[in-house]
Amino acid sequence: MQGCVFCRIVNREIPADVVYEDDHILAFRDINPVAPVHILLIPKKHIPTLFDLGEGDVQVLGQLHKAAVQVARDQGLEERGFRLVTNCLEGGGQVVPHVHYHLLAGRNLKWPPG
Ligand code: AMP
Ligand code: ZN
Repeated sequence: MQGCVFCRIVNREIPADVVYEDDHILAFRDINPVAPVHILLIPKKHIPTLFDLGEGDVQVLGQLHKAAVQVARDQGLEERGFRLVTNCLEGGGQVVPHVHYHLLAGRNLKWPPG
């Protein structure tokens, strides 16, 4: 979608530190990391929020979770673990309106988050 920063990353119109890519998913380092490992995973398809998921989008979320596990392995997190979170709309802290999941690791992450 024109004007969407994450679509622009998918289309290589703006640079990103890409760590994983397949036909449906892109993963790249967050520009403003809040943990030593902070990677964003997105469907390449523009879906604004989780509320916009259609029947045909169910599969891509499974693919995204598999990609997250692959990325976590690649980052050496299999023993220590990681957090995978998504924010939905303003109340959930979503700033970029293109569905994305944050993969966080590398420090002790508290629960519940602040
Ligand atoms: P959220 O608050 O869940 O919408 O998270 C959006 C995330 O995208 C934030 O952690 C930002 O630091 C990150 N972000 C925004 N623009 C870029 C970009 N061009 N490259 C990498 N990460 C970005
Ligand atoms: Zn988009």
